[in-house]
Amino acid sequence: MSIHVSGGGRTLRRVVLSCDVAGCPVQLEPPVIEAWRNDADARSWARDHAAGWTSDPIRNTDYCPEHARFSTAPAAGTVPPRPTAAARDRAGNPLNRDEYVKHLQEHLAGRSTEPTMMLTAAHATVAARLLDELAGVYRGESLGQLAQELSEILDSRSGDRS
Ligand SMILES: [Zn+2]
Repeated sequence: MSIHVSGGGRTLRRVVLSCDVAGCPVQLEPPVIEAWRNDADARSWARDHAAGWTSDPIRNTDYCPEHARFSTAPAAGTVPPRPTAAARDRAGNPLNRDEYVKHLQEHLAGRSTEPTMMLTAAHATVAARLLDELAGVYRGESLGQLAQELSEILDSRSGDRS
């Protein structure tokens, strides 16, 4: 539930909209102008008066103006939004994971001939296992595929498959 209603009875209901994109801190509290009869009225009023915000009535989610496009249910066969869990753009917003992978792959392609950084065998092994975990979380995505490939590179170079 992304709309928080407080009050009730004789007190005015306060309605706070919060964006449902993971990691987005944006909230909005439309001004209270009346004592709504019930929470449902308060919610629909808040949604109607949140300029630029969108909502998805099926998932019961709300999106700030910056993420308004996420309220559109994906058409059959299309890929739903895949926001990054940790990576952020300069404005602090999550990135599209598939686009992020392309960026990482470009980074790799441009630097494959640079000198090797020293890494202990234990570090390489642990890094490979962490990449395996990442590959498991994002199995079937390009990000998981990249993690798997890098894990195999680390394993083949370290020679320590403990
Ligand atoms: Zn947002």
